[in-house]
Amino acid sequence: MSNLGQGDWRATLQDGRTVWLDGQKVDVTTDKKFKGVLETITSLFSMLEDPVNQTILGYKNNESTTFVHKAFLVPKTYEQLLEKRAAFELWSEMTYGVMSRLSDYAYCLLTGYYMDKAFFTQFDKGFSLKITAYYKQASSQKRIITTAILDPQIDRSQAPEQVEGGLLKVVGETKGGLIVRGAKMIATAAPYAHDVLVMPHQKLNKGQEEYANMFIIPLNLPGLQIVCRESFSSPFAEKHFIQANFDEMDAVLIFDDVCIPWERVLIRGSIEGVYEAQQHQQMNPLAHYQTVVRLLTKLQFIAGVTTAIAESIGANHFLHVQEKLGEDYTKIDTIKALLTSAEIDGEVNEQGVYVPASVPLQVARNLGTEYYPRMIEILKGIGAGGFIQVPSNPITEKDELFPFFQRYYRGTEVDAKTKTDLFQLAWELIGSPLGARHDLYERFYSGDPIRTFANFYSQYDKDPLRDRISNLWKQFEEEGA
Ligand SMILES: Cc1cc2nc3c(=O)[nH]c(=O)nc-3n(C[C@H](O)[C@H](O)[C@H](O)COP(=O)(O)OP(=O)(O)OC[C@H]3O[C@@H](n4cnc5c(N)ncnc54)[C@H](O)[C@@H]3O)c2cc1C
Repeated sequence: MSNLGQGDWRATLQDGRTVWLDGQKVDVTTDKKFKGVLETITSLFSMLEDPVNQTILGYKNNESTTFVHKAFLVPKTYEQLLEKRAAFELWSEMTYGVMSRLSDYAYCLLTGYYMDKAFFTQFDKGFSLKITAYYKQASSQKRIITTAILDPQIDRSQAPEQVEGGLLKVVGETKGGLIVRGAKMIATAAPYAHDVLVMPHQKLNKGQEEYANMFIIPLNLPGLQIVCRESFSSPFAEKHFIQANFDEMDAVLIFDDVCIPWERVLIRGSIEGVYEAQQHQQMNPLAHYQTVVRLLTKLQFIAGVTTAIAESIGANHFLHVQEKLGEDYTKIDTIKALLTSAEIDGEVNEQGVYVPASVPLQVARNLGTEYYPRMIEILKGIGAGGFIQVPSNPITEKDELFPFFQRYYRGTEVDAKTKTDLFQLAWELIGSPLGARHDLYERFYSGDPIRTFANFYSQYDKDPLRDRISNLWKQFEEEGA
């Protein structure tokens, strides 16, 4: 397989996969709507070849002669955890935190399953061998990996297994593998990923073994249909910097009796096994760590744009605008503090792995679902009508309108071009279809926030809270006596 980042890796996606966009089967390597995102991925992976960045982003492990992303590193010390953070930051900064399914998250999940292979082998005796083989392959070949967990929204008021097509299920078995039928609702990056990790989302009950499977499959399997949403990419890179470069595509996966090769079936028919795998996926602190580093980068980007907008029109002199910018910075520093707390309060577990503390990361992820939409709202409130003032085309010295442009489009200490470029960039975040997709992404990527917060309630150690109140009543009684 060609090395990702060396330019020619895109040919590996001409592998017979079935990708649908705008009603047509498309070749993602030549379709112009994927050009920007694939170039971004190429440049990110090329950092593993570049002497300046490769030691920050990568390391050399036993599986590869070249540098491997530090998401695969199993950290033994606090210092190694910080090395992972530096790698996540480096990639996140390259896309301003906008792209989130660049594989580093999936690499972390995979590394977590690899670390805990002995535990999972009780549910499927092939687990250890298969995950080890895949871990070696994925790290040495630099495969792009994504996840597909949610089944389609057909009727959420019913148990999914009672809805026809509600759950991905086994419909047969051959010598070659397991035949599955159903769909997965969203798999970001699937059109250009090499592999996808698939498992059920909900807790299954005894008798539902046909749904209880976990596998990591190549995205070119016969019968697998990858159905893209509308593209939000733009061919105008100068004008639409974010849309032109960072539109990571979301797709539905339809499994039309797809044969999953046995070597990629990690758990077969184990209710308990897939439940543990789900918990692992939802609670894996190493993967959460990556998502929080990425979130922080994105919030810093939004706050940077908002600050620049406020300053460009002199709105930063108003007290309520200062209060809102202060709110942005408070949010950023809260997430930073939670990351630091997760790092410092991390512990070496029974396998000798230095694992960041889980609770601060869960709190950061929960807060992120509210912080991002709120920061977008603040940006809208400060820029106000200015976003709508941006002309449809750049106005240059050659244009008749240029003298008016210079006079009426300028800002406080910024010329007209700088100011309109800034508002154009902000419009991509607040008003473009891609911006709307990001608002949804940050609210939902880590699950339904309503249930995520409620789970935090269920799992929280509430005894110390209750004790305070019962101690208070005791104190009253004693004082009253
Ligand atoms: C841009 C984007 C990219 C994504 N990328 C991926 C990806 O790469 N891989 C992946 O696996 N997933 C991905 N997701 C899916 C994401 O994980 C889900 O959107 C999220 O878990 C919420 O599930 P849902 O969308 O099915 O909403 P639902 O669960 O259908 O919720 C819809 C509404 O019904 C309510 N509701 C539903 N069921 C219940 C219940 N039992 N109790 C109480 N309330 C309920 C919810 O609170 C909500 O208001 C992505 C989502 C987005 C928006």
